[in-house]
Amino acid sequence: MKLISLLGASGSIGTQTLDIIRQHPNDFKLAAFSVGKNIDLARKIILEFRPELVSVQTKGDYHIVKAEFPGTKVTYGDEGLIETAVFDKADILVNAVLGSVGLNPTLQAIEAGKTIAIANKETLVTAGHLVLEAARKHQVPLLPVDSEHSAIFQALQGEKDKNIERLILTASGGSFRDRTREELVDVTVEEALNHPNWSMGAKITIDSATMMNKGLEVIEAHWLFNMPYEKIDVLMHKESIIHSMVEFHDSSIIAQLGTPDMRVPIQFALTYPDRLPLPAANRLALAKIGSLHFQEMSFERFRCLEFAYSAGKTGGTMPTVLNAANEAAVAAFLQGKIKFLQIEELIEKALIRHQPIEHPELSLIQEVDKETRQYVHSLL
Ligand code: MG
Repeated sequence: MKLISLLGASGSIGTQTLDIIRQHPNDFKLAAFSVGKNIDLARKIILEFRPELVSVQTKGDYHIVKAEFPGTKVTYGDEGLIETAVFDKADILVNAVLGSVGLNPTLQAIEAGKTIAIANKETLVTAGHLVLEAARKHQVPLLPVDSEHSAIFQALQGEKDKNIERLILTASGGSFRDRTREELVDVTVEEALNHPNWSMGAKITIDSATMMNKGLEVIEAHWLFNMPYEKIDVLMHKESIIHSMVEFHDSSIIAQLGTPDMRVPIQFALTYPDRLPLPAANRLALAKIGSLHFQEMSFERFRCLEFAYSAGKTGGTMPTVLNAANEAAVAAFLQGKIKFLQIEELIEKALIRHQPIEHPELSLIQEVDKETRQYVHSLL
């Protein structure tokens, strides 16, 4: 029985993680979780899973939940996230929060010796060097939950790193795959939120439409697999059946395939190195699909991908700026404050203006993150 602490229970990865725990009551138990402001969902989760610790976002909600569930330990705010991440009875932390807010809880959980199932890619983008350094120091496994990274992780089982030629991340192309840049000028939030293959949260769906999601994943892959950017490629694959691949020196390519269902990579992170049945997932019927398509990525069409490679190669505080500017710009787009193409304009401005600093400590990363968001807000 593995005891799980879940950060970000109300998001798309969070609810699917709960679904996996629900399907395997003899293998997993929810020990602790955090939610944002969705108190109705928090109530349902407490009643169904009976965890020992719950963290909510605000002090007001803390008082409400505490009064309703006197037998459950309740906490709140940034401290609550950390308490949930390091909860002593949990074996594994599923970090499914959105954005760089997940960084500090992740670092603290690593120090507490927790195995980390990481869905929170912004944490690796903004401070991958700190997370990996801490994980190595404390000998804590970092298990990928992102479908592309889970695919690469699976393809690498039993393989030696020295034999890798390159990693190939596949990209569906997002909601606007078949549109030209001219056709993107007046797209709406609703159109951007309509992803063809994956059902995901709002932020990641917009990131998929701008291709920033793939850019963040390139940086995530750089850290998780200790791979130079020159050896990480992105390939357009509109069906999202091949979730990613690894090419070896002898020209062999190993790919992981499946229907697009995030429960598969989430469950693999929880069961690794074992596997459990997942009856709810649809089996892949290749004969029915018939053919798969691939296409070279255009860096002119998807400028955010170029920004991400460039920020990643520059390193230091540059990926922090990339991520913070993106988070602020996507939030502004979702609130109807800017147009779609302005997302990349704002990110570019923030990147051009920044003088990168090498080997930043946590406090500097937090400062650069905050300052970049303020800069983007000042441009709105
Ligand atoms: Mg992904």
